[in-house]
Amino acid sequence: MLERIRIVLIGTSHPGNIGATARAMHNMGLADLSLVAPRCEPITAESVSRASGADHLVHAARVVGTLEEAVADCTLTVGASARSRTLPWPMLSPREVGDRLPAELVEPDARVALVFGREDSGLTNAELQRCHAHVHIPTNPDFSSLNLAAAVQVLAYECRQAWLTSEPADTDEPTNPDQVLASHAELEHYFAHLERTLVAIGFHDPAKPRQLMARLRRFTLRARPERMELNILRGILTETEKLAPPRDD
Ligand code: SAH
Repeated sequence: MLERIRIVLIGTSHPGNIGATARAMHNMGLADLSLVAPRCEPITAESVSRASGADHLVHAARVVGTLEEAVADCTLTVGASARSRTLPWPMLSPREVGDRLPAELVEPDARVALVFGREDSGLTNAELQRCHAHVHIPTNPDFSSLNLAAAVQVLAYECRQAWLTSEPADTDEPTNPDQVLASHAELEHYFAHLERTLVAIGFHDPAKPRQLMARLRRFTLRARPERMELNILRGILTETEKLAPPRDD
């Protein structure tokens, strides 16, 4: 279970935090680290020293340009946030994240991503809206922001506790291919198709977005659609696009 949990750091600016994250992960038995557009050199004397023996995770880290690339194959994406945002999103406590993991990771292809933001500005709203749920570590409300690697440590600890206390999965049950959850990449293709279609039929004006796409994202992500269900929805969108009036532009 633990090897299918990915820690994703976005726009990290201090190599020491990358090393300390690797240490926190290795202490808890996690090994899958992705760095999205780091704002520093990931492998430095400081990151290696702060990893204190877990620098193999820093060397093995995948470096990518966007969150989409980092989590394309993930079936559950949870964004860690120190602050509440304008559009409320499903919120989990660190313990609730852990509690969900054994069931989320029964399928061998399932992947869970825990996404962490920049030291100075956290995660953007657009990044948070690409996550199924948000996790907030309950802290002193007057001083709520943890050091990045400390936040990773808390979540990694909950992952390990969940793994230690979980029952072994019943692997005899054959997987029904219809019931495979849609991956992040499949969901993003659907959202792009949905937005295109809503523009084509004149329902959505990107110049006046009024959080329409954010609300539709929240609704769809809450439903946890299966791949088959998303294919049906995309089929409906394709037929709807054919009926859309021709546009002058
Ligand atoms: N100053 C930033 C916080 C940056 S801390 C802000 O105001 O948003 C760096 C990252 O650590 C955050 O993006 C978040 O992913 C994680 N983090 C820090 N404190 C957290 C908390 N209390 N709960 C959940 N995640 C937290």
